[in-house]
Order: sequence, then C-alpha cells, then structure tokens
Amino acid sequence: MRVAIAGAGLAGLSCAKYLCDAGHTPIVLERRDVLGGKVAAWKDEDGDWYETGLHIFFGAYPNMLQLFKELGIEDRLQWKEHSMIFNQLETPGTYSRFDFPDIPAPVNGIVAILRNNDMLTWEEKIKFGLGLLPAIVRGQSYVEDMDQYSWSEWLEKQNIPARVEKEVFIAMSKALNFINPDEISATILLTALNRFLQEKNGSKMAFLDGSPTERLCQPLVDYITERGGEVRLNAPLKEILLNDDNTVKGFLLRGLNGEPDQEFTADLYISAMPVDPLKVMLPKPLRQLEEFNKLEGLEGVPVINLHLWFDRKLTDIDHLLFSRSDLLSVYADMSNTCKEYADPNRSMLELVLAPAQDWITASDEAIIEATMKEIKQLFPQHFTGENAAKLLKYHVVKTPRSVYKATPGRQAYRPSQKTPIANFYLAGDFTMQKYLGSMEGAVLSGKLAAQTLAQDYPAKISPSTPEATKEASLV
Ligand SMILES: Cc1cc2nc3c(=O)[nH]c(=O)nc-3n(C[C@H](O)[C@H](O)[C@H](O)COP(=O)(O)OP(=O)(O)OC[C@H]3O[C@@H](n4cnc5c(N)ncnc54)[C@H](O)[C@@H]3O)c2cc1C
Repeated sequence: MRVAIAGAGLAGLSCAKYLCDAGHTPIVLERRDVLGGKVAAWKDEDGDWYETGLHIFFGAYPNMLQLFKELGIEDRLQWKEHSMIFNQLETPGTYSRFDFPDIPAPVNGIVAILRNNDMLTWEEKIKFGLGLLPAIVRGQSYVEDMDQYSWSEWLEKQNIPARVEKEVFIAMSKALNFINPDEISATILLTALNRFLQEKNGSKMAFLDGSPTERLCQPLVDYITERGGEVRLNAPLKEILLNDDNTVKGFLLRGLNGEPDQEFTADLYISAMPVDPLKVMLPKPLRQLEEFNKLEGLEGVPVINLHLWFDRKLTDIDHLLFSRSDLLSVYADMSNTCKEYADPNRSMLELVLAPAQDWITASDEAIIEATMKEIKQLFPQHFTGENAAKLLKYHVVKTPRSVYKATPGRQAYRPSQKTPIANFYLAGDFTMQKYLGSMEGAVLSGKLAAQTLAQDYPAKISPSTPEATKEASLV
C-alpha cells in the first residue's frame, strides 16, 4: 500500500525504511529543502558543515544501532573512551572524569562514580546511591511514577544534598532536555541513569563521522528509493483533508514559488512532524478527540547550537565535554571528534546553549559575545597574553521549538503511534516510546508506527514487484 509520511526527520525516514521492509511503499513529504529535521546540517561557502545540534549516539540506543547495522554503515560511528568529562568549576581549564572500567554493569558505573573524588564527597556519593535505590529495585514503574516531580524536588525528597545537583545534575539536565533541574521531570534523569547503570556500554558515546544529513539520512533515503519508495523535499503539508467519517482523505501540499496547492492521496497517512506543527495542522474534528486534544500539553523547548572556528587548537580532547557554565551545556572540539570535520591545526568548537529561552531572539553577535566570555573561562590558557586565540568565523543555529519540554507530568500527554483514525498514524520523538525526546526515540517511534500500520494492514505484495514500485500520484 502507498503510505504518505509528512516529515523527513529521523522518525519519518526510519518509519519509511521499516514500511519498505514490511512490503509497503512510503512517500515521504518534507517541508524543507534539507533532510533530517533536528539533525539537519548545511555546508557554508567555505565547505564547512554546521548543524542543528551537536549529536551524541549512546551505547544505550539499541534501535539506532540496529538501524546502522541494517543500513551497513556501522563503521560511521566513532566510539570514544567510556568516560564522562566535566569542566571543573573552581579551576578553569581543568577537567574531572568519570571513567568506566571494562567490567559488567552496574559495577562499572559504581566504580566510575566511586573513583571520582573531584566532584562529590564520599558522604554525597553514599546519600545519592541510597536515594537511587527505589529506582534500581522497583524499576520502570517507579521511574514513570516520578514524572510528578521535578528533578530538584525528587533529589530533595530522597534527602540527596543540594550540592549533588549543582555539581553533576545541572549539566546533565541541560544536556538531556535543554532545561534546568528545577524544570525537568525526574522521569527523564531516572530513565537515563537506569540505562547508564544497567547496561555495560549504556553511557558509552559515539560521534558520527560527518554530517547527519549525508552520513545517516542519505543512506536511509537510498534504502527507501531502492525499494520503490520516495522522499520529496520542498513538499510542505499545508492541511490534513478529511472524509465525512473523519478518516484522512489526503494531504494538501502547499504550492511553492507561485505554484497552486496540490492534493496528495495515498492509501494510508502518517504524521512524522514535530508536535508543534502537528497541533496547528490538525483539523478541528480531530482536535476534539481526546487522543489528539492532549497534544496541547506538549510544546517544543528552545535551544541554540553554536559553531566557532579558531586560528589554533584549543584542546586535543577527543570527546564530549560538560561545560558546567551558565550559558553553555555540552560541547566538543569537532576537529578532534569527527573524521570529516578533522583539522590538525585549528579547533572548531560545537556548543549547545541551554536553557535558551532568554537568548532565542537575541542577535547572533550578542550570543557569540556572551559565549566567548564562557569559552575564555573554559580555555583560559589560550586567551591570555598578547598572542590570544582568534575567532575566525561562526555559525549560530536557533531552534525555537526543538524536542518537547519534559517538565513534570508530560508523560500523560504523549500519544501512541496508533490513533483513533483508522488510516492515520503518528511518529516522532514526542510520541510514546521509552527513549524520550532523542534520536533513539525518533527512530523507535518510526519503527513502532511502521509495525503498528503493518499489523493493521499487512502488505499483500513484495516491495520489489512492479505494482509496489508504481509512482505516487498527484490528484
Ligand atoms: C541542539 C540539539 C541537540 C541534540 N542532541 C541530541 C543528542 O546528542 N542525542 C540525541 O539522541 N538527540 C539529540 N537531539 C534530539 C534529536 O535531534 C531529536 O530528538 C530527533 O532528531 C527528532 O526527530 P523527529 O524525526 O522526531 O523530529 P524532527 O527531526 O523535528 O523531524 C520532523 C520533520 O518534519 C518536518 N516538517 C515540519 N512541518 C512539516 C510540514 N508542514 N510538512 C512536511 N514536513 C514538515 C520538519 O521539517 C522535519 O524535517 C538534539 C536536538 C537538538 C535540537
């Protein structure tokens, strides 16, 4: 069957891939002229890449790793040492590490925490360990119950000293959802900690060897098109058209460059758009249904991704770093961490600015000026004296609404991939799956949407037959 999918982010593309595997013919319709949504990247006039986000792949991403395997591109993941590295607050330019030894979980995580004496005292570590016990013993149901608390509230409830939050969890909460511990749901941190502690390589990190658009999204497009599917850029969904019984009649695509709008019809329909445009796009009769109405409880959080090129190497660290500074969250010197961005002589720092609420409307110049103040703290040795490092150029990429803001209580608002409408499904990192708003969550949501659809409508023909490869029609 022909399945129209709105949105060529990781959810839409993975959904299309798994629909091909199930014998269906997906046609992905993407609003922009670039693949990838929140992993989209662009090349500037010098041939340098800049991205929507600094993206880290974790060992605890089974569906993403499986996808790389199925696409035959596993060698594109550049795995780093199994460590978490934090900037030291008191001594600028120095680092504190959690190094995970090569032994089974959870012992490797416990050893990593116990061996780090820079950030937490023994008493703080013991109190934190005791506080975590219910999550370890009672597992996922406890983790879900804690969605009623913010992380700050949960730490207090568990009698964990406030310093633990300041030392470790401001950085982690900013990295996970671009907000602070007093805003983020305890479920988010507990989910991540559970994965990191229960899986030996759960917190091991990899960088892609180039831009996600070329190195991950394009292989997905090739896979889809080789099997009779299609991915169209510059095809913005303007309206979801309904039949009298509220099933989907078609997707109305906005005509570009003076062209008229066009109605696109298929047998089945999927939205793989982010939650914010989906809410706007839903026709009134659907909005009145409980399953769609609850989407009003979800909203994308602002974040800013920065790229700064310098005239020299600022560090040789080949890893993700937690800045622990006011403005910045995680960062990496991509000239060390990513093969395609490699440069032996000059650093390209990619940094995430979060929370970004107060900065999202600021000028690029103001953002860079504030960022440079923090970078000087992070690399003081390169910014003192007469021969200070020079900023050669920069790119600022703002995403006013990125992943859903995971404040307490949001789990109840996340919809299933199956909707009350018989020919309409949802994919997207915000839909209900256990990996929250992340690349893994997006891939899993796409896979779940494809699986659910294929169960409801098993394909009758193989994707390699001429019937299945017929062109999508515009009415
Ligand atoms: C700065 C930043 C850093 C991040 N870091 C990490 C990380 O380290 N690790 C991690 O796992 N995750 C990270 N993420 C999150 C991750 O990028 C997302 O969770 C994931 O990519 C979302 O995929 P998606 O397909 O659900 O949504 P999206 O990527 O948003 O895709 C939705 C697509 O729908 C399209 N669309 C919208 N409206 C229409 C329309 N009207 N018609 C047609 N198409 C439309 C959009 O253009 C887009 O291409 C980060 C995100 C950001 C912004």
